[in-house]
Amino acid sequence: MASCCKRPFKLLGQAQDLTYTLLRSLRSIANGNGAGVSEITLRERLQLCAACEEKRGLRCRKCGCFISAKAALRDAECPLSKWPLPR
Ligand code: SF4
Repeated sequence: MASCCKRPFKLLGQAQDLTYTLLRSLRSIANGNGAGVSEITLRERLQLCAACEEKRGLRCRKCGCFISAKAALRDAECPLSKWPLPR
């Protein structure tokens, strides 16, 4: 399949990932838990992303998210499972 034909499917997957992340974060907030991560966890995630082959500029090529925004959300997950559990 040509890469132009795969693009809508990739965008759909990225939109689905973002939707799940936002819904999990909203649930955490509704349950009285914060949605953010500790400074240590944020730093760990950003360091892993900085060394990742999927990082393109400010975004993750795998999930399409802006890394600094996604890494700050406790319920967000790395699509390649590179992030450790939040502390
Ligand atoms: S979220 Fe995961 S896949 Fe994306 S850039 Fe960071 S470490 Fe890489």
